[in-house]
Amino acid sequence: MKIKCSLLALFILVSTHAMAWGNHTPPSYRALENMPEVANATPVKVESLDAFLKAEEQGIAALMAKQEIWARANVDAYAARPTALDYKANPNYTDAARRLAFFKALRIAQDSRFALYIHPDARAGEITVPLLPYSTVHTLPEPPVVSERFIAINPGDTVSVLQVVASASSEPDYGLDINLFEDNPGEWGKTYGFGTLSFGNPAYTYSSQAPFHMGFFHESSVIYKAGPFLKRTFPLLRAHQYSTLAVLAFKTGHPYWGWRFTGLALHYIQDLTQPYHARLSPGESTPRVISANVLAMIGLPSMKQNIIVLLGNRHMALEQYQSQIVRNAAKAKADTAAVLALRNGSKDASYPPWSDSYIKEVLTAQSATYADRVAGILIATLPGEFVNDPTQTFGSNGDVDVVGAISKVDAAQRAELDNAIAEMLGNYGAHSRNLIRGIQKLVKTP
Ligand SMILES: [Zn+2]
Repeated sequence: MKIKCSLLALFILVSTHAMAWGNHTPPSYRALENMPEVANATPVKVESLDAFLKAEEQGIAALMAKQEIWARANVDAYAARPTALDYKANPNYTDAARRLAFFKALRIAQDSRFALYIHPDARAGEITVPLLPYSTVHTLPEPPVVSERFIAINPGDTVSVLQVVASASSEPDYGLDINLFEDNPGEWGKTYGFGTLSFGNPAYTYSSQAPFHMGFFHESSVIYKAGPFLKRTFPLLRAHQYSTLAVLAFKTGHPYWGWRFTGLALHYIQDLTQPYHARLSPGESTPRVISANVLAMIGLPSMKQNIIVLLGNRHMALEQYQSQIVRNAAKAKADTAAVLALRNGSKDASYPPWSDSYIKEVLTAQSATYADRVAGILIATLPGEFVNDPTQTFGSNGDVDVVGAISKVDAAQRAELDNAIAEMLGNYGAHSRNLIRGIQKLVKTP
């Protein structure tokens, strides 16, 4: 019990930084721009969420009942949905009431925006139309440095499929999974049946979404024994909910929502290609993690505290560096190694076709193997103050220029980091395309 509590504490800093791969939209543009199913798709007509829900409410009610049956059978440590939240078709609902019923049945934040917007591709040049205010799309406070750019679209507009799906691939980080547990601030978590926050600090906003955006499927049995709560993660639930909604939308003639839900589903599997989202403590051995917790239990907390800070710092430094290189390449319209890796579809068919077991047995089985190697490369390549100094918190002084900071590092060492990131972005692209193929195959299945 005590070890369990100590491991729980180990998570506080790690999970509050849970924003894998930063903004997903820039890498999604590169991963999908040459995929024929996306690039050659007929542009789609924009439709509001309310119009889609109203038109298809019978089918949506039937699907959401099936999703719950699927989740009970397929998600480990699943928290069943209370029957009071079942989605029931009701033609007399107002738009607002129907939308709320849908959010409750999905068990997502009830203030989720689902705004009509796109996030343009930085590679397409400067944006010449007014930007939407951040809060139109996002429910969380606007940070001092924002990489997202939102522009409005309206029902009836025609937009490219690439824009819809790449924009939506970041959307789950815009507040949809915030405060869903009973010990989080706010009201809806008290009724959703997810129980108390699996790990992390319930008062920290991003901690509350971490169990939906991380999945620890490949830890040692000792770690699960010490922290059974580590199994209470729900990215499989979200990927299933949104991908099956996408299939329904495509089949019933709502391609805008087909691609929007596809983008939402992509987010969760993209997060899991980041090894810091698929492993508890990259670079730290199980005996070291357990020892740190045992020492903390007997009144010597410094080893554990240091590990907490260092894991958080390495996690953040990796995401910041990757975000910078992908964003810089887009602005420069450059085909860098990272861009070529994101686009490269030559390995897609080396994986099994998409299935219910793909995330656990293929995707995270792969990303988990990168954890220790990537941690080692980060430590060897980035300045000590970013990755090896527990007295510093990465990013606490604002935006960090990791690209600038490592420009003087030995080129061969830098190449090792760049190659590892390119490999992981290659996996990000391949698994994203394979999920899209899986969804499209179901659309064609009667
Ligand atoms: Zn996420």
